[in-house]
Amino acid sequence: MKNFKWGILISLTILFFVPTWGEKSEERIQGFTADGSKEERQIEAALKKLADPGIYEKHLRFLTEEPHIAGSKQNYDLAVYVRDRFKEFGLEDVELVEYQVLLSYPKEIIVEMVEPSVFRTTLREEGYPVDKDSFDSQVSIGFNAYSDSGEVTAPVVYAHGGNPEDYDRLLEMGIDIKGKIALVRYSAPYSYRGFKAMTAQQRGAAGLLIYSDPRDDGYMRGDVFPNGPWGPDSHIQRGGIPFDFLVPGDPLTPGWASIPGSKRLKPEESEILPTIKAVPLSHKDARPLLENLAGPPVPPEWQGGLPFTYHVGPGPAKVHLKVEMDNPVRSIWNVVGKIKGREEPEKWIVIGNHRDAWVYGAVDPSSGTATLLGLAQNLGQLLKDGYRPKRSIIFCNWDAEEYTLTGSTEWAEHYADKLKKDGVAYINVDSAASGPYFGATAVPSLADFMLQITQEIRDPKTGKTVYEAMKQLRPGRKEKDDASLIDTRVGSGSDHTAFMNFVCMPVIDMSFGGPYGVYHSQYDDFYWMSHFGDPQFSYHATMGTLWGMTTLRLANAQIFPFDYEAYAREITSYVKEILGQGESPVSPDLNLLVGRIEGFQKTAQEMNEYIERLLAQGNQISYENLQALNSALMQIERDLGFSGGIPKRSWYKHLIYACKFTYHPEVLPGVTEAVEEKDWTRAKEQVALLDKAISRANQTLQEILTRLLKNQTAE
Ligand SMILES: [Zn+2]
Repeated sequence: MKNFKWGILISLTILFFVPTWGEKSEERIQGFTADGSKEERQIEAALKKLADPGIYEKHLRFLTEEPHIAGSKQNYDLAVYVRDRFKEFGLEDVELVEYQVLLSYPKEIIVEMVEPSVFRTTLREEGYPVDKDSFDSQVSIGFNAYSDSGEVTAPVVYAHGGNPEDYDRLLEMGIDIKGKIALVRYSAPYSYRGFKAMTAQQRGAAGLLIYSDPRDDGYMRGDVFPNGPWGPDSHIQRGGIPFDFLVPGDPLTPGWASIPGSKRLKPEESEILPTIKAVPLSHKDARPLLENLAGPPVPPEWQGGLPFTYHVGPGPAKVHLKVEMDNPVRSIWNVVGKIKGREEPEKWIVIGNHRDAWVYGAVDPSSGTATLLGLAQNLGQLLKDGYRPKRSIIFCNWDAEEYTLTGSTEWAEHYADKLKKDGVAYINVDSAASGPYFGATAVPSLADFMLQITQEIRDPKTGKTVYEAMKQLRPGRKEKDDASLIDTRVGSGSDHTAFMNFVCMPVIDMSFGGPYGVYHSQYDDFYWMSHFGDPQFSYHATMGTLWGMTTLRLANAQIFPFDYEAYAREITSYVKEILGQGESPVSPDLNLLVGRIEGFQKTAQEMNEYIERLLAQGNQISYENLQALNSALMQIERDLGFSGGIPKRSWYKHLIYACKFTYHPEVLPGVTEAVEEKDWTRAKEQVALLDKAISRANQTLQEILTRLLKNQTAE
């Protein structure tokens, strides 16, 4: 048997001999031998040394100079900036990747109360002398992308969060939303605004006004901008309302890339474009409408933060709503660059963040873009110093995320075959830093891997590890146990979606959060970030290092650190949740499925033990067997997908995770939805599909394990 020796980078050891620190620095890293761990920690120590907040501040300042919505010249200019920095930092094969997609901009929007008195909303946000950016004439009025165009005059009804249960409650009060204009809150509880649009449309509303109530993100939460991080009276949350929980990406090319020559639907053929007119409002603009609603007082939990008792209406407030949108097909530009791997260049660790913003987007997404640039700069520096990771790192800066997760979806559709074959994992950072609280979502196979990384990096504010800070820092929260620190329920809402749900790759999504009431408003700008979000830019720098460590560990691991025993445990808990809802015709099938998953868990446990033994012994395994093992470990996430997708949403291929229409995560989506609809035939079919997927995954692991164990005894 050929003994494969891990290449020891002697030059690296000399170049980067910096003392490592950290509570875990002596332990083996998941996926590495003891020697491999030592090398890995040396390169990570070098990366940590480069963490200079000043780099991130400089990039953020540049990125937030102008509003840069997708499809604008400003956002193209920033694509060029990112491309040129990538090149300057030494990334390879740097290019702009262009797609032609349907976008949506406001041409003319009027929201005016015509009865019982006349009041014209401004749809604009007020300027503050301390913040130059709040006076920029390029800032758009408030609008909801992909709103329908048209004109209507109708009485207003206050419908709380605009979710189905809210309209049901109104019906109980004898109020039908049909033909009326629904005035709803963004939060309370949070749901994706596109779901509010779909719900209002299905209920027959004549129009939809979505406003930011001070109870949710304004003065009821704390000091408002420019004296604090919360939203001032006139702040407006812009945002798209497409039904991308059905299929994201360019509305005219669902499921395939928008490249020249590709087929294109007519807008009226798209299933994700709303047919309702919708406009977002500040509470300053919404207040006169709310004050002029009669009818019954609202249920107590519907009361917001304005200083009067809310009533549901309808009327007497009557609103004239005119929306004229411009929906051109325009170019968008992703920026893609690489660091080619030294041993397995064909294997890709993909990392990404979007660039387009509704206005300046200091938090969302420029903090992420600045972090991507900072990380590119630092990894580029290591590259210049002679270091090269084992596998390739693909840096992606997406466009038009704010529309329908467009840039990342088009790219993932474009390169789906390559990604299915060679995509190891996708790591997303959207808003990198709006405060000190770390949060991450990861597929269960990577949750503990992620947690280990947080144990090896310092939280800049407390000096503890990010892990300890996560356990204790957030005020009013009980200390969390390790198992709940990393969220393993993967929903939507950012660019990881196409990688998780269309390609079926393992994904991680990370951010540092905090009090942040200016989301998608013009006040999410450099002033906000430098006064409230991350004034020292230390959380940007920490995210850069965290992102870099996560990426490097996946790029360099000797054996991929995917823990399928944990994954299986998690899937079992999902099945048991459905079983816990009570006896149903599908219960026997689900019980059989539990047995199947237990079998998979047992195989995965044997695999984990085998890998641990192997790595503890210094990895005595032939190169061919090692490659076969890693391919099998990569295959499992694909095994959990189904090419036909989930019912009614065939773009969503993953059988364990999808998003609800609210963007919240939905587990075992095919089964869950069939059970919810009490469609037992479909439920049985979906359980059978899941059973097959688990069997495939089990077989993948079993086959390679048998082969490796046989080789071991043959020696
Ligand atoms: Zn974003």
